[in-house]
Amino acid sequence: MTENTKSPWGVLTGIRPSKIATKLLLGGMSADDTIRYFMREYGADEKKARLATEVAQAELPIRKSMSDSGVSIYIGIPFCPTRCLYCSFVTCGTKQAARFTDKYVEALKREISYVSDIVSENGNTVETVYIGGGTPTTLSAPLLDNMLSHLRDSFDLSCCKEFTVEAGRPDTIDREKLMTLKRRGVDRISINPQSMNLDTLHLIGRAHTPEEIEQAFYLARDCGFDNINMDVIAGLPGEDLDMFKYTLERVEKMSPEDTTVHVMSIKRSSRLHEYLKDYQLTDGDTVAEMVDFAYDFLRGRGKHPYYMYRQKNQLGNLENVAYTKPGFESLYNIYIMEEIQTIISLGCGGVTKTVDRTCDRIERIFNVKEPKDYIERLDEMLSRKDALRNNA
Ligand code: SF4
Repeated sequence: MTENTKSPWGVLTGIRPSKIATKLLLGGMSADDTIRYFMREYGADEKKARLATEVAQAELPIRKSMSDSGVSIYIGIPFCPTRCLYCSFVTCGTKQAARFTDKYVEALKREISYVSDIVSENGNTVETVYIGGGTPTTLSAPLLDNMLSHLRDSFDLSCCKEFTVEAGRPDTIDREKLMTLKRRGVDRISINPQSMNLDTLHLIGRAHTPEEIEQAFYLARDCGFDNINMDVIAGLPGEDLDMFKYTLERVEKMSPEDTTVHVMSIKRSSRLHEYLKDYQLTDGDTVAEMVDFAYDFLRGRGKHPYYMYRQKNQLGNLENVAYTKPGFESLYNIYIMEEIQTIISLGCGGVTKTVDRTCDRIERIFNVKEPKDYIERLDEMLSRKDALRNNA
């Protein structure tokens, strides 16, 4: 797609098209009329109008089963083995991080204790926990255990319906870490290949092979994980449609419960943005073919789309979509994408969002982005969380 051709989403610029579809469906509009509304009011392609409506329909029963007092907890671990070409997060390489991972976890434990007191004072129940980053499994097994045991001692997790840890990079996973997660009640993990093409993995800065991704996946299965998400990216530099198909087919041979298809987005603070002219980007039309293939292929594998979002500067002006086997929808991802539950974010870069569902009001509390600042300014981060009292 060139700059001048029409966006598949028409004039819709928001990042959450399915949120609009949900409102229409909840207001009593039929699915067919919702599709027509998207096409008429926004000029969206029929395919995209259907996608937004389908996602909204998948989310409705989950929305209904939410508890009024429920909140979710997000914990950020800002360390990764290397920095991916397209990454815009504040993450710190493992070597550099080794100097202060202990201090970071100690600071996090203080924030966990502080926030757990507020959650219990407010009479909230923790419905989901999500530990992301970065790559949380860059922490050593004893450090992960230390953090997770403190988390379990601090929060009442008896009503927790889902506990996810991102184990994104296969080179950070081993049996000891996976068993630690399992022992501490983690029931969902994410192992993210992005591509199963070795050259692409090297190009984007990954120091592992496709075979190591498969080994990590089967190791996780062997450790008892029966709910695994895998992320892939459509439109990685140098990839064509056949390479993307190869990735998706090889991923699906493993049969993960969730497959999330991201579309390459050129983020301002990424290395890719800085050295853009050195890379061969996939054109928008090809990326559109990739996402269409993903939809048909994953549908054919019995998965359905259940959450989605758009980002700035995505190739082809497309969208990220998660597909799941029935019954494995990630609650946390729906809550955050649809903004229907308060998510309390701990750790550096955390953005807490309090959601008042009675009037659709959302307020935000920010933690600082850099790990070093987070450790040094922890008291300030804790006092910012006081805004949650009687609010979450
Ligand atoms: S694994 Fe994720 S957070 Fe880590 S460098 Fe890559 S894109 Fe960034």
